[in-house]
Order: sequence, then C-alpha cells, then structure tokens
Amino acid sequence: MTDTAYCYHCGTHHLKKEMRQISTKAGKRWRCVKSIEATKRSRDERDAFGRRVSANNKVDAQSKAKQILNNGR
Ligand SMILES: [Zn+2]
Repeated sequence: MTDTAYCYHCGTHHLKKEMRQISTKAGKRWRCVKSIEATKRSRDERDAFGRRVSANNKVDAQSKAKQILNNGR
C-alpha cells in the first residue's frame, strides 16, 4: 500500500495527505496542495503586478510628458 501519489504538476511523488485529487480532461489526477496554492498565489501576484505596472506606466508617462515640456523651453 502506498500513501504517495504522482503529482502531475511537479512530476514527482508526494504524500497523498498533502495532495488533492483533481478531475482533468485526462481523468483523475493528483496534484499537491503546495502547487495549487502556489499557482493561486502567483496568479494573485501577477494580478497585483499588472495593476502596479499599469499604475507605474501612468506615472511614467506623466513624468515623461513633464520632461518633454521642460526640455522644450
Ligand atoms: Zn506537486
């Protein structure tokens, strides 16, 4: 009897108690909670990053516009 399962995300085996069984197109697959959480977190971070970048771009564009005005004197 084995208490580990193959994690299709990491390509390695983990303890089943640290994993979740997921239904995919290919059938039931095991995936570790860690990778699920990591994906969830990285998606949140990516969203936050995207918001930050667009905010920075706005500031950047404004400061560039100011520079152009100053240089134009
Ligand atoms: Zn894993």
